[in-house]
Amino acid sequence: MEKNFTELCNKMVDGQLVTRNIKSKTVLDAMRSVPRHLFVPENMQDRAYSDNALPIALNQTISQPYIVAFMTEQLNPSPGMKILEIGTGSGYQTAILAHLGAEVFSIELLEELAKEAEKIFAKLKIKNINVRCGNGYSGWPEEAPFDAIIVTAAPEYIPQKLTEQLKDSGRMIVPVGSVHSVQSLKLLTKNGGIISERELLHVRFVPMVDSP
Ligand code: SAH
Repeated sequence: MEKNFTELCNKMVDGQLVTRNIKSKTVLDAMRSVPRHLFVPENMQDRAYSDNALPIALNQTISQPYIVAFMTEQLNPSPGMKILEIGTGSGYQTAILAHLGAEVFSIELLEELAKEAEKIFAKLKIKNINVRCGNGYSGWPEEAPFDAIIVTAAPEYIPQKLTEQLKDSGRMIVPVGSVHSVQSLKLLTKNGGIISERELLHVRFVPMVDSP
């Protein structure tokens, strides 16, 4: 990374993540290593490390750094873990999961975003990411079951096809609720086929929609 971006990135990690209790060393290291400015529109690169979500193409957003770190820490990815992501968007969250050694399967509804993200992964020579353009409500049955599932757009209800594709003892993190009200970020765990859920935070994500 160029020097001034490295500085901004370290400042982001120390000032926004460590101070808010992100503790995982591997997650903090991933957040220091992945160049977030490459995942935002060029005219916003100087704001890439600021403490907020930013607009990307087609009215979508790249999530706030803290939310990316928080969701990643909750899933606790380790090398070789198979992770399904719904809502590739900019590809930043995907790249963080890949940096932690997970094999990532990411579904994006909007073809233009899927293609842009793939270009950045190629440029950064990240190999352990598979992107598919399609509707995340169906999941990725050919690759199921997954050790973990991360949903980065908000459905109104927990999509059943996704929990079906979660491995036993797997974890899924998903913001649930309507765009017009507060959404609740939920951590689901599956044990003996039974899903239990815990509410973590209130959040605001773009809606998970059925068609482009
Ligand atoms: N993690 C991304 C978040 C992008 S915003 C980032 O930080 O950049 C959420 C993304 O979910 C958008 O790109 C949107 O197009 C996508 N999306 C919405 N509904 C979807 C669906 N049903 N299936 C797959 N992707 C969906």
